[in-house]
Amino acid sequence: MATIGLIGGMSWESTAVYYRLLNEGVRERAGGLHSADILLHSLDFSPIAEMQASGNWAAAGAAMANSARRLESGGASCIVLATNTMHKLADQITQATNLPFLHLADVTAKAIRRTESRRPLLLATRFTMEQRFYRDRLGAFGVESLVPDEAEQAEVHRIIYEELCRGRVEAASKARYREIVARAVREQGADGVILGCTEIMLLVSQADFAVPAFDTTALHVEAALDFAAELAREAA
Ligand code: GLU
Repeated sequence: MATIGLIGGMSWESTAVYYRLLNEGVRERAGGLHSADILLHSLDFSPIAEMQASGNWAAAGAAMANSARRLESGGASCIVLATNTMHKLADQITQATNLPFLHLADVTAKAIRRTESRRPLLLATRFTMEQRFYRDRLGAFGVESLVPDEAEQAEVHRIIYEELCRGRVEAASKARYREIVARAVREQGADGVILGCTEIMLLVSQADFAVPAFDTTALHVEAALDFAAELAREAA
């Protein structure tokens, strides 16, 4: 396979899952002692989270572009950005290098299209739920995402930053996520749920919901393995 350039650390709790799943995926596909060929740039999340919270997206974009350049100069064949939220800055990344970029919203939308779901509830950071960069990208594939109400969004966001990104998995938060999805199914006609932040899979899984759940971390990893295999075939 080609070398996967992984931009991570946002937070490292989910990047660690990417690392494990990428390696497990290669072991499943190739067997033996095979493991994934990865170049990882793991950022310090604290300054990045401050840029997000203060709306300093220009600085965050520069940090993403810098990371992509470092991976390119290190020999990566493609870029995979291990966070949904920072896909807001996908253009800054693709403009910074010549490497192909695997957009997580495209991967997610294609997975949803393989099911009956067309109106999934999006659980994500406030930025991803409130702004249009992710939802419009899903919309281009005919997926009309729904979002929780304002108070629910605040809770979903708080649980991501104050708990999951700090390695805390709380039973009460799991129950709250389940309630939020159940209400959206009942009152908004949601027919699926997007675990649209790469840490959410640490808290909940398909077993928690009556509707199909789309785990963006797992979907991104599978797509990255296909992508890297395809790039290697093209290069051969
Ligand atoms: N990992 C999260 C995501 O997928 C949130 C942390 C971040 O803002 O990058 O959106």
